[in-house]
Amino acid sequence: MSARILVVDDVPANVKLLEARLSAEYFDVMTASNGTEALAISRRAECDIILLDVMMPDMDGFEVCRRLKTDPATHHIPVVMVTALDSPADRNRGLEAGADDFLTKPVSDVVLIARVRSLTRLKMMTDELRMRAITSLEIGMQAPERSAVADTGKGGRILLVDDRESSYERLATILAAEHTVDVEPNPTEALFHAAEGNYDLLIVSLDLNNFDGLRLCSQARSLERTRHVPILAIADPENSTRLLRGLEIGVNDYLLRPIDKTELLARARTQIRRRRYTDHLRDNVQNSIEMAITDALTGLHNRRYMESHLATLAEQAATRGKPLALMILDIDYFKSINDNYGHDAGDDVLREFAVRVRKSIRGIDLACRYGGEEFVIVMPETDLHVAGMVAERLRRSIAGEPFAIHKGAKRIEVTISIGLTTLEQKGESVADVLKRADTALYRAKHDGRNRVVSQAA
Ligand code: GH3
Ligand code: MG
Ligand code: MG
Repeated sequence: MSARILVVDDVPANVKLLEARLSAEYFDVMTASNGTEALAISRRAECDIILLDVMMPDMDGFEVCRRLKTDPATHHIPVVMVTALDSPADRNRGLEAGADDFLTKPVSDVVLIARVRSLTRLKMMTDELRMRAITSLEIGMQAPERSAVADTGKGGRILLVDDRESSYERLATILAAEHTVDVEPNPTEALFHAAEGNYDLLIVSLDLNNFDGLRLCSQARSLERTRHVPILAIADPENSTRLLRGLEIGVNDYLLRPIDKTELLARARTQIRRRRYTDHLRDNVQNSIEMAITDALTGLHNRRYMESHLATLAEQAATRGKPLALMILDIDYFKSINDNYGHDAGDDVLREFAVRVRKSIRGIDLACRYGGEEFVIVMPETDLHVAGMVAERLRRSIAGEPFAIHKGAKRIEVTISIGLTTLEQKGESVADVLKRADTALYRAKHDGRNRVVSQAA
């Protein structure tokens, strides 16, 4: 796993030093000697992680960071401040500007590579999600970048796993100023608690009695329910080598005791903000998958989905020796509904029709909008006789109750015709089944509409 790191420093010797160390670990390195240059490179999406010097003439590192983090195009790029200043006040200025982490000059090799590796993993995951979520933008979904930039990172749900009372009481009090905090002093309960609680952040002490906090972190990483919840580790300074191990197994950030109040709050906000952003991206991906297989007007599956899924259902039915019924439904004289009451009224009828269809079928049945006012329902493990009863019930549910149009101001009679058949057992093609159902539908129309015609295979 490699990444492209942008090193920003006004002193050429500093740039050269970091460049050499990163190149030795096979990272791809770009350099910039001032903030303006760094912003331009970042906007062109040419780097994955930024190592940013704090003290630079013209625009200092804090200002560069603030600009990166408030620009929707660059806010997701991890920024590590590289600084000779290491007072809590300096750190907090950086955190307020949105920095993801700090390295103190002179930079230790081990810490540098551990941090960069861990941030690379994070960036790769975000990029993957962003790429997939682009599809959702193309089909008109809300871009999450704007809300991500505006998010304060407050109001999160945090689970704190720590068994020292004096420690967790202090931490919980600090965090409660901005978040909802649950404390779990029993590490063996913590994983269960974390999986049940829908948390935005886990804070785990690595100084637990008789329990390896890193084990908990790694378990949280492999469990489906907690996989994406960020982890902030807390450790005594003598445990700091274990923190590096933690970064390798997926801990997102850490703090050393004694814990500075402002820094704890800032780091918690950063993790929560990131968590919300990636969740948002993930939702968009999920929605775009759903939209790709769903008809927007009725919420039923679309034709494309039905055609690919029907092949699978037919195969299953054949191998298990079970019947499979299929019906095509077509609204009678639908064109005249449009002509007489308007296209919107036609849409109302289609929507309400879908509602009634859903009420009449089982969860395992597949209903889809096949064309304008034509629908297909596929029913696994259903023979022609039973399917005939379902079809008849459906026909009655449409004809028996007028449809509301014009926002309920008017009600009109609607009827449907249904052609019904079943799949032949001897490897019949899906196209043949659809054709037979269509022939049955044609007869239903021809015989006077508002009826079901069954056609045995
Ligand atoms: P039949 O009883 O023979 O089925 O007659 P019909 O009028 O229902 O059938 P026809 O195929 O002549 O007309 C279907 C109409 O459905 C034509 C088309 O404009 C309309 N239509 C297709 N999609 C939509 C839609 O999404 N919304 C609305 N309002 N109308 C649609
Ligand atoms: Mg400098
Ligand atoms: Mg019709």
